Amino acid sequence: MANHKHVRDYIRTIPDFPHEGILFRDVTSLFADPRGLRLAVDQLLAPYAGERIDAVVGLEARGFILGGAVAHQLGTGFVPVRKAGKLPGAVHAQDYELEYGSATVEIHQDALEPGAHVLVVDDLLATGGTAKAGISLIEKLGAQVIGCAFVIDLPELGGRKLLEGMGMDVHTICD
Ligand code: 5GP
Repeated sequence: MANHKHVRDYIRTIPDFPHEGILFRDVTSLFADPRGLRLAVDQLLAPYAGERIDAVVGLEARGFILGGAVAHQLGTGFVPVRKAGKLPGAVHAQDYELEYGSATVEIHQDALEPGAHVLVVDDLLATGGTAKAGISLIEKLGAQVIGCAFVIDLPELGGRKLLEGMGMDVHTICD
């Protein structure tokens, strides 16, 4: 029998994780389903059909799972943006603000060719702070972000506005 479930139907909401009052959107149930994972990858890529993409950059950690699958589908390489201290080679670092405090992400200095066309992938767009930090690392390497693709948008947190204000093309599958 045909399955007409949408990507959003595979995403679970877990209350009070990681803190009381937070509704956590859990994509492990999407990734665990063979049809769900394929739908998510196909829908992330649909708007970029025919566009030149030289590399996929995934944001730690769920962006690695999605980004690896997206890169494989495109036939490109995959480049991780990692939390500080995890990458073994020479890195560029970028700080960004969290709700409480700040964090740092890093990229290998030789991970992208100058001028490369890059697609940024992550599971969820909230404030956009993580993606903005990733984009600035990609731009430090002289590469060009041609799109930012997320499974979930939390529009009330303003990430889309922030990234579009930077001139980014933002693609999300569900709100
Ligand atoms: P932002 O930097 O846009 O505020 O937050 C986005 C980052 O936080 C993403 O890397 C995302 O994985 C993570 N994140 C924040 N809230 C959630 C959530 O409810 N579910 C999932 N899966 N990730 C979240």
